[in-house]
Amino acid sequence: MTERDKIVIAIDGPAGSGKSTTARRVADYFGYVYVDTGAMYRAVTLHALKNGILPNDKRMDTFLESVSISLSRDEEGVQHTYVNNNDVSDLIRMPNISDNVSHYSSIASIRAKMVQLQRTLGEQGGIVMDGRDIGTVVFPDAELKIYLVASIDERVKRRVAELMTKGGKFFVDDIRRNINERDELDSARAHSPLRKADDAIEIDTSVMTIEEQTEKIIVLAENIISGRK
Ligand code: C5P
Repeated sequence: MTERDKIVIAIDGPAGSGKSTTARRVADYFGYVYVDTGAMYRAVTLHALKNGILPNDKRMDTFLESVSISLSRDEEGVQHTYVNNNDVSDLIRMPNISDNVSHYSSIASIRAKMVQLQRTLGEQGGIVMDGRDIGTVVFPDAELKIYLVASIDERVKRRVAELMTKGGKFFVDDIRRNINERDELDSARAHSPLRKADDAIEIDTSVMTIEEQTEKIIVLAENIISGRK
């Protein structure tokens, strides 16, 4: 792979729109790095809750100095997320994290720290990053920006299927409430709200399979890469 082949692909969209699975597959196809930025906000939330730090806590800046977030991928391509070298990949998917993360992710100092780390991870190009503000704030010059959407019913169905594989107990109504609540908080916040970048391509995945949405993004990326040669 030459330097010219290494573009930045930003994938944003609301909760459960299929970003992570699609982003991971696109990254695998191109041999790119894949970064799930939602996991980073979840990890900070987990650590803050553990240490009794509330979103508007006066100690937030000092707390953030003591937090180091890192990522790796295992042989199966699954992203692992670490807080101060402890693997928190499973813990960050627990319902109490989903219920609290949007309150923490609205805090400017938390966002500044995460955005800085995300830019460092992507500065060489050859990356697929998914989140809420990747095309608008983290990489406003990304060569390809995708905005994934899906109906609320479909997004709830996907989250339920994902949680079933993990074997935990949950109520479908709680999942729906959490998705709606996060969408509202993420879209309404003052700092880097969830929104489609003007130059992003919107894909409605409600009636698409993962294979179809992955293929669509691969084709778009290949066109951009071949145009650079
Ligand atoms: O992607 P996921 O649903 O795991 O993200 C969890 C939460 O992290 C989102 O609801 C949002 O509050 C926050 N987030 C964010 N900016 C990103 C990625 C996630 O604010 N780039």
